[in-house]
Amino acid sequence: MPATLTPLDEALSRILELAPPPPDAERISLGDALGRVLAESPCAPMAIPPDDNSAVDGYAVRIADVGDAPLPISQRIAAGHAPTALTPGTAARIFTGAVIPEGADAVIMQEDVQFNGDCVQLPRDLRTGQNIRLRGHDIPQGETLLSHGQRLRPQELGLLASAGLSDIQVYRRLRVGILTTGDELVEPGRPLAPGQIYNTNIFTLKGLLQRLGFETVDQGIVQDTADATSKALETLAQRSDIIISSGGVSVGEEDHVRQAIAQHGELALWRIAMKPGKPLAFGHAWNRPLLGLPGNPSAVLLTFLLIARPFLLRAQGVTGPVTPMCHRLPANFGIERPGLRRDFLRARLVQGEDGLRVDIHPNQSSGALRAASWAEGLAVIPEGKILQRGDLVDYLAFSELLD
Ligand code: AMP
Ligand code: MG
Repeated sequence: MPATLTPLDEALSRILELAPPPPDAERISLGDALGRVLAESPCAPMAIPPDDNSAVDGYAVRIADVGDAPLPISQRIAAGHAPTALTPGTAARIFTGAVIPEGADAVIMQEDVQFNGDCVQLPRDLRTGQNIRLRGHDIPQGETLLSHGQRLRPQELGLLASAGLSDIQVYRRLRVGILTTGDELVEPGRPLAPGQIYNTNIFTLKGLLQRLGFETVDQGIVQDTADATSKALETLAQRSDIIISSGGVSVGEEDHVRQAIAQHGELALWRIAMKPGKPLAFGHAWNRPLLGLPGNPSAVLLTFLLIARPFLLRAQGVTGPVTPMCHRLPANFGIERPGLRRDFLRARLVQGEDGLRVDIHPNQSSGALRAASWAEGLAVIPEGKILQRGDLVDYLAFSELLD
């Protein structure tokens, strides 16, 4: 491998080490907190659930009272209503979620009882505590609910709500500035002059950032001059916390982003051993971290998912793993020639005779996006590896990368 290409794992760990500390925290209401990163480790101010309650619709009894004779029904306890103590020698009609009356030690499902006039005939084989959900069985009072650095998914919001918390301390959302470079670029909706193409990457990047919960700042298209590129990046640095650009990081004379970083800051990394996505510049300029992604649309998607995403999540305050897990599945294709770079093929799963297999799109050009749209994930071919059909291959699902 040429010395100038940094292996992906090494690049990633260097980039993550250079992630800035998380932004300031703010207190927001739980209803606005989906996808946000916790800046505190909240404890449960109360036991969850707060009372012993019934897991089923049925009858609450004291087991010692249950004999051959049917028991009369002394009260009806619906969810949300406080019971009175169980009258000895009786059963209480009870519904799911309703509080267990004092003195009862079991609940019998209504399917298991028989009516005998106004009384219920109960089975004899009862177990203490059956069908009773104990106070605090989910979370005891005072226990840590979640840890700082966790991203809030719907189930975390529900958990916080179950403890009665209505607002929560999270990190301010990072503002990510986007610059798309290229004399050839035109925004969709306008006519193309000869030699021009539409600005694809701004839509891909904005979408990716929005899915992850970042604020975006669009600096628009910058022309390929050193001066315009520097000015645009400097402006963007004042408007955002982290900058992402597309294009202008190869070795051509029109590639001004890399030079702008080198001139106005420090270039920490350039050129990574991945395909697509070799020309990627990472550094700091104008006091901001700057990720200069390549220009090719598929390379933008993949370098964002594999490099920018972990960096941004770490910078946002996520403390746990930020890189995705692979599934290892049989390949529905072969690779005849070993590559120098780790290859990320646009792929999806198909049902084979022996279970799921990884299939790849026939057009893997880094300039083409159709394959990425067809795909539901990536097949990862390590550096220097060939593959026979049926061999195991690592598969990264987009569903793990897009949120
Ligand atoms: P560059 O790295 O600037 O040389 O760009 C590499 C390739 O990606 C060229 O074919 C560019 O035309 C294309 N490209 C760069 N930026 C964009 C963009 N925003 N939208 C679509 N294609 C782009
Ligand atoms: Mg360009």
